[in-house]
Amino acid sequence: MAKRTRRTAPIVARIGVIGGSGLYDIPGARVLAELRPRTAWGSPSDAITVVEIGGTPVAFLPRHGRGHRLLPGEVNGRANIAALKQVGVEQVIAFSAVGSLKESLAPLDFAVPAQVIDRTRHRPDTFFGAGVVGHVAFADPFCPRLAAQALAVIRAAGLPGGHGGETLVCMEGPLFSTRAESHLYRSFGAGLINMSALPEAKLAREAELCYALVCMVTDYDCWREGESDVDIQMVIANLTANAQRARDLLPALLPAVGAQARACRCGEASRFAVITAPELQPAATRKRLATLLPQYFAPLSRQPRSGGRRRR
Ligand SMILES: [Zn+2]
Repeated sequence: MAKRTRRTAPIVARIGVIGGSGLYDIPGARVLAELRPRTAWGSPSDAITVVEIGGTPVAFLPRHGRGHRLLPGEVNGRANIAALKQVGVEQVIAFSAVGSLKESLAPLDFAVPAQVIDRTRHRPDTFFGAGVVGHVAFADPFCPRLAAQALAVIRAAGLPGGHGGETLVCMEGPLFSTRAESHLYRSFGAGLINMSALPEAKLAREAELCYALVCMVTDYDCWREGESDVDIQMVIANLTANAQRARDLLPALLPAVGAQARACRCGEASRFAVITAPELQPAATRKRLATLLPQYFAPLSRQPRSGGRRRR
């Protein structure tokens, strides 16, 4: 009997890269596929390009769209995270251009923050709602395992900075901080400031993806005496230089990430999150959430009964 012809398996990229300002593509990488997934929350910022980096398939998505068309507040974070999950991504390394709030964090330095303070105001930041209440732990907003791994690779590559453990302020923008705000954030003990870590990190956690942020410092914000205030030309020059070094880092970073087991709790972050009684959850909301978290929102008839009052 003839063997069945093997069909080409769909390409699964378990690692996602979200490119920030300056990082819109990965030139030179072999393109395996260009995907345009549609999600229950709309379309992502741009096509997802699956590229091969160091033998590892990686799903690349430019956060602001190619050509930088979306303000931080205009990015559809829910569609971006849902789309990455839809194409098989389990771990996300996101890149971001950031301002520095500390002398020790110099322009062109790399840092992997451990904490974030949310100063965004106008962005949908949860997949829950519309009749399904869910609360997910976010005490450690970045995957500690993935963040440690990214930091180790950055340090081994000899990139400047290599700062870990910092707190990042995520502000709404698009304007940069006032001087008073910059001093206020410094008084919080924060070291970095950007406009894009959130809601991305929150949504990744709800979607049960590991998420770490690689920050590349462009400027000293506006707190530093004697420093010219945020100068957009200097910011652009620095973020262009940083983006190239980020690209150079990927061939070391991504295979290392892919080789490590997900020995962290991100993969079950939403397991006990939902509080709303299943029979009271609107069908349309369950259907939407099932595209993201099918294990918790399968059709009710297929689920074993557990507790609650039985109908007679
Ligand atoms: Zn994790």
